[in-house]
Amino acid sequence: MRKVNIYLKSIKGQDYEYSILYAIHDIFSNMIKNFEEKYPQYKLTNWYQVKLFAHILKNSIPHFQKMHSEYLNKQNPKNILIEKYKPQAYEIFKGTYKQNRKEKIAANILNDFLLKAIFATLKDSLSRNITNNLKALHPEFQSKNELCRKVMQDLRKERNFEKYIMYITEPQKSLESWVENYVSDYCMKRNSEGKSILGIEANDIFIYKVTQLIECVKKKQGNNEISFEVWLKKFNKAAEEIISLSDTLFNMFDMKEVEVKDMNYFRTEIIKSLETLKTSQETVLDNWNLKELNSVNKPPHTLICDSILGCMMQCPMCYVICSCTIEHPGKKHTAPRHYPQALSGMHNSKTKKLDLESCNELMLSDRSFGCPDSGMKYVKYKNYKSVNKYYASWSIAADNSLEPSLYWKWVLAQFSEQFVEHWSKHLLKHKDFGYKLKYTNIPLEWKSIKEEEVDESLRIMFQ
Ligand SMILES: [Zn+2]
Ligand SMILES: [Zn+2]
Repeated sequence: MRKVNIYLKSIKGQDYEYSILYAIHDIFSNMIKNFEEKYPQYKLTNWYQVKLFAHILKNSIPHFQKMHSEYLNKQNPKNILIEKYKPQAYEIFKGTYKQNRKEKIAANILNDFLLKAIFATLKDSLSRNITNNLKALHPEFQSKNELCRKVMQDLRKERNFEKYIMYITEPQKSLESWVENYVSDYCMKRNSEGKSILGIEANDIFIYKVTQLIECVKKKQGNNEISFEVWLKKFNKAAEEIISLSDTLFNMFDMKEVEVKDMNYFRTEIIKSLETLKTSQETVLDNWNLKELNSVNKPPHTLICDSILGCMMQCPMCYVICSCTIEHPGKKHTAPRHYPQALSGMHNSKTKKLDLESCNELMLSDRSFGCPDSGMKYVKYKNYKSVNKYYASWSIAADNSLEPSLYWKWVLAQFSEQFVEHWSKHLLKHKDFGYKLKYTNIPLEWKSIKEEEVDESLRIMFQ
């Protein structure tokens, strides 16, 4: 192998060709011959030799690839021209450099750096602006109650059972995904010129930031005696309020090399360059899409949900969400009205039918429940706090008047069979159950609830 490598490295300036393979084969045959002469007690089988040769060739592939690309590079007319005209190009560069004043060159360097910094800040600002716009426009982005009401109303209109299950079992995911879809539709809405809200907003922020930077440069103007170094430090401080600088501007310049003497000229140049920036990125930003928006650490849907959802813990029995809008360590989770337990698959183990009562009603009864959390031991609803710490962290009002809301009665009436089927699948797979549910009779009056009554119930629920 070593000999083959030495041979391959010795080939210079030529493309890969078959003769190389033959040469490798010769080296290989000699190696086999030497080996068999040295160790006559061993005989290398044909099969082994073929495998070994294939292995050597496989290891030679990177050499062949390198050889081939180096050869192509050498033949590339562009590279040949660059190499050939390097001295002339250098002379042209020197000429341009001499023609341009050092102040102009420094202004260009600073301008390039600021452009990169604006782009680095832009997406975060865009996410924050879109969040603020949506919050100002729509009550559902201002409070947890309003968001839940809106999502539940949409679920009622859509009548999609899978979406209901997601809302019941993974409410946070369901709410976030609703907000994310809303944000996406909003951002990609186009005006009569075909420009998206996202593109327009990105351009507005960009222009605003450039304008602010221009103001900063202008403010520092007036005193020609201030040195470039001092000016740069002051400008750096002011620019940090507008854009996030990955590095201090000071580090970009080698102060021994930079000869910016005429500060007024320098500032005029930087203002000129920044003015041209205002329109230079318009097309790029017009074409921004959701990929850019969602690449930030906190896209609008996350910012909105973080600001309004608060505690999203769920009742361990019916899965209702805690209504607190902030995290509340040390304080009990609570919900004004619990769900009918059928939503979470709670059922009577004897009749195998879903329980239609709410947790609030059951707390007044003498009934017991058993589940994996209680080690399948039966516990009275009244004593639910004895199950474990999490059960004890919930404060559930025992109240007969808190029967399930019309909204959930309607949902159960619409999807009773799907609920039975959905939870049966879970119970069948679960080692503590292993059985299917039976069809659950839904009260007749639940079936005749009208959609207007459902919406009215929603309004009352989240007052
Ligand atoms: Zn509950
Ligand atoms: Zn809570």
